[in-house]
Amino acid sequence: MNAEKKKVLVIGGGLAGLTAAKRLVDRGFQVRVLEKRPIYGGKVSAWKDEDGDWIESGTHCFFGAYGVLYDLMKEIKTYHAVLWKEHQLTYTLEGGKSFTFDTWDLPSPLHLLPAIVKNGYFSFGEMAAFSRSLIPLALKKDKYPPTQDHLTFARWAEQRRFGYRLMDKMFRPMALALKFIPPEEISAKIILDVTETFYRIPKASCMGFLKGSPQEYLHQPLLDYSQNRGALFQNLSPVDELLFDGKRIRGVQLRNGEILDADYYVSALPIHNLCKVLPSSLKKNDRFFGDLERLEGVPVISVQIWYDRQISTIDNVLFSPDGVIPVFANLERTTPDYRSLRGEKFEGKSRFEFCVAPAKELMGLTKEEIVRLVDRSIRANFPKESQGANILKSTLVKIPQSVYAPLPGMEQYRPTQSTPVSNLFIAGGFSQQLYYDSMGGAVMSANLAVDALIREASKADR
Ligand SMILES: Cc1cc2nc3c(=O)[nH]c(=O)nc-3n(C[C@H](O)[C@H](O)[C@H](O)COP(=O)(O)OP(=O)(O)OC[C@H]3O[C@@H](n4cnc5c(N)ncnc54)[C@H](O)[C@@H]3O)c2cc1C
Repeated sequence: MNAEKKKVLVIGGGLAGLTAAKRLVDRGFQVRVLEKRPIYGGKVSAWKDEDGDWIESGTHCFFGAYGVLYDLMKEIKTYHAVLWKEHQLTYTLEGGKSFTFDTWDLPSPLHLLPAIVKNGYFSFGEMAAFSRSLIPLALKKDKYPPTQDHLTFARWAEQRRFGYRLMDKMFRPMALALKFIPPEEISAKIILDVTETFYRIPKASCMGFLKGSPQEYLHQPLLDYSQNRGALFQNLSPVDELLFDGKRIRGVQLRNGEILDADYYVSALPIHNLCKVLPSSLKKNDRFFGDLERLEGVPVISVQIWYDRQISTIDNVLFSPDGVIPVFANLERTTPDYRSLRGEKFEGKSRFEFCVAPAKELMGLTKEEIVRLVDRSIRANFPKESQGANILKSTLVKIPQSVYAPLPGMEQYRPTQSTPVSNLFIAGGFSQQLYYDSMGGAVMSANLAVDALIREASKADR
């Protein structure tokens, strides 16, 4: 293949776009990345505020399952920055109670035994009913979840008759943490897929945190890697439209009026932005593109609060079914580079980061109102430890359309990376791959999009 002469425009500089750029420069393509915002990283982006404190789009946990992400980080030499935490999931509850799902270092599925017999909250009877509900999953393995995409997880659980407490205390925060929507909305397929992976691969549910900001350990190293090998990165360059001549994409129109062209185009945009830049003729006349409009983004809010004392010493991700904070972490524990406030050392106190969901009803509230709700939730979960605690600083990020909403029936509309237009490829967490809209999913989608592009380029060369 005569790849040196082939030009590729990558549209979107999130994790999928940055990964695609790296994979393409590695194969000798001329790459140019167009990003709308001043910073790269999209939904994993992080930036410093006026006090010099890192703000993140959201708490990002690294699941053991994301092998493709760790391969990438090893290639750019930043894998050392993933700090693996103890293999357990802790849930905190109103009134100061908590329970923990531990694992044992045993082959699957025995590694899950302690979660069933000694979680300290659910009875053996409840866990036995739950285990029974998973028999079809144990028998049919990964063939089973796709057959349940027509149901919400809540409906599936109702049919399988496992107890209300498990749904409310364990699966509600899990659904909200995974995709920011509750069990009454999320497709059963998602929760079953994740459960099947956790069941089959012992390390899949182990959680890691970056040592510091994703900007320093993920995006900038990826960008530097590709830039040093000739890729061009253009921020503040929103694309308004893909120009289609009835057969192929002929160029992209930037918001400033400029038109750029290439041999191949990789969209690494979120679904709602992709729908905006696709020409209406494609959406009208081709079902593949028309169906994309059925997918939608979920709103989510991220809040950070610095407290003047240590409220939780747990160095791991935390889940809570009570209040508005389904998933959170004390970054002062999990993320060593974040032990600071306004340039001063910040140790032995709490710097929590919270994912606030479901956020649909909260998007219209002010920062003060949302922080008050979050503060109330943390005080309810840690009544003793938070007594007399004062807030030193808080920050908030609202994302009106974040990951795509995996509602029942939506799986069929997730696009493949190859499209009916031979020189257009789609990467991004919402496109078809194993890991849904996640960091692992973004990387895997980019790998698949680049593989498809290379196949097409080889065909053209023959
Ligand atoms: C609050 C929050 C918490 C999360 N937590 C986790 C977690 O713990 N673990 C995990 O694995 N995943 C998590 N995720 C999901 C993960 O962040 C995403 O799945 C992943 O980052 C998606 O990457 P992407 O490159 O596909 O899309 P994006 O990150 O959305 O990147 C798309 C890029 O395209 C740019 N763009 C948009 N329109 C245009 C345009 N017209 N022209 C040019 N550029 C444009 C955007 O600015 C953006 O940079 C979380 C997400 C959020 C929001």
